Amino acid sequence: MLRRFPTPLLVALCALTLTLVGTAPVSAAPTSAAPSNQARQLNQTILYYDSSRAAEYSSAVSSAVDVWNASVGNVRLEPAASGQHAEIRIITDDGWPRAHLGPVRPGGQVTVWMGRQGTAEGYDAVRIAAHELGHSLGLPDTKSGPCSSLMSGSTGGVNCTNAAPNASERSRVEANYGRGPAGESAADGRLLVDRR
Ligand SMILES: [Zn+2]
Repeated sequence: MLRRFPTPLLVALCALTLTLVGTAPVSAAPTSAAPSNQARQLNQTILYYDSSRAAEYSSAVSSAVDVWNASVGNVRLEPAASGQHAEIRIITDDGWPRAHLGPVRPGGQVTVWMGRQGTAEGYDAVRIAAHELGHSLGLPDTKSGPCSSLMSGSTGGVNCTNAAPNASERSRVEANYGRGPAGESAADGRLLVDRR
């Protein structure tokens, strides 16, 4: 059964509550979150990419870059200025899509080939670009996988348009560019051909 407090007592309780809130230290909260955000920014690896030879796939590449930048925090892809060293070169040709296996480090270099054979067979250009960039960032193929897996590549199906890495793909890239043993491993360098 609920007890009913007389009105003056309720007013007194409210006043007490307001007093307690009013006297709580307000300076403690804002300072606690800032240092970790700053540290995260300082530790972020920036990799530059050159898509000047991506031809008709330039916008697909730029969409794939946006997907990766929205998906991971330890590494960020930025367009290289003209004449600047690019860690990732993107070249369009008539073969199958393919790429060197990273994880590429600043000052190193890997290549992504946006082979036209992939889209000629009906596969989605943004998914192809995101998949090949996944190789640059150190992800191997995981075939045969579902469409929800970016690195399942063509085995995700010809109608699969998912260009986003799943949780385990994201965390593997975060580890490749984070602190610890995985974050210091050298690029593998193997050429992975994504033939259907
Ligand atoms: Zn692949």
